[in-house]
Amino acid sequence: RERSGALPRGERPPLTVLAGPTAVGKGTVATFVRDNHADVRLSVSATTRPPRPGEIEGVHYYFVSDEDFDRMLAADDLLEWATVHNKFRYGTPRGPVVDASARGELVLLEIDLQGARQVRQSMPDARLVFLAPPSWDELVRRLVGRGTEGEEERARRLETARVELAAADEFDEVIVNDQVETAAERLVDLMRGAD
Ligand code: 5GP
Repeated sequence: RERSGALPRGERPPLTVLAGPTAVGKGTVATFVRDNHADVRLSVSATTRPPRPGEIEGVHYYFVSDEDFDRMLAADDLLEWATVHNKFRYGTPRGPVVDASARGELVLLEIDLQGARQVRQSMPDARLVFLAPPSWDELVRRLVGRGTEGEEERARRLETARVELAAADEFDEVIVNDQVETAAERLVDLMRGAD
């Protein structure tokens, strides 16, 4: 299914969303694209999560307070947003994305599945790309980790993985994250229209 194929011939989707299950490595793929392809603009999200060591304001995220986030929501400044892992809020500032897209730039959003679904609703022409793990077993390995969690947590993560993997059906394209560089190049090719 290629919904963005419904666009008039030769017209590009206004933006591309990269989403996928937890722990599939979408952040790594998006960072690789940002660092190696100057013609792709990676959207910088706002988040209520505090910065990790090495993270730079305005590069990795806009780090905002809960009150700031509430204000952005009230002003309708966010194209989509979600509470991720029941903890912090993350959202895509609408202005930069809309402006860059209007200038004809290739815009990439790396967001979670809830956010991808909102973009599908509000921008039906957007291209949704699902980053899939090489296999179910590999996803389970990455999610369940070193087996330090209890049985209940393990079962919860497995259920999450199952549900998240099923979401692939809702996407226009699936890219398997076998190797970061290969997955990133495939994504950029898609965005440039060389599919
Ligand atoms: P982290 O805290 O590790 O940087 O990101 C946690 C999760 O938040 C990742 O799955 C990432 O895709 C998601 N995320 C980052 N920015 C956004 C955003 O603007 N919107 C949504 N919906 N999810 C986001």
